[in-house]
Amino acid sequence: MTSRVAARPLAAPAPSPAGAIPLADIAPWAVFAAIVALILLYFVSTEQGAFALFKGMYVHELVHDGRHLLGFPCH
Ligand SMILES: [Zn+2]
Repeated sequence: MTSRVAARPLAAPAPSPAGAIPLADIAPWAVFAAIVALILLYFVSTEQGAFALFKGMYVHELVHDGRHLLGFPCH
């Protein structure tokens, strides 16, 4: 007895447009970029201003113009 069910190819994921990157591939890098951005934002906005992790004013002087440019209170 032979089967009359035609062989079907396994379901393949829908082809993505050229150049599209799956969200699952982007997510870890997006999280990493967000963490780095938040760390940079902390140093520009808060470090040696409202709060200080490091002694001295080196970080403050390094990011001073950026602090004013972004409108964070300084002096
Ligand atoms: Zn200032």
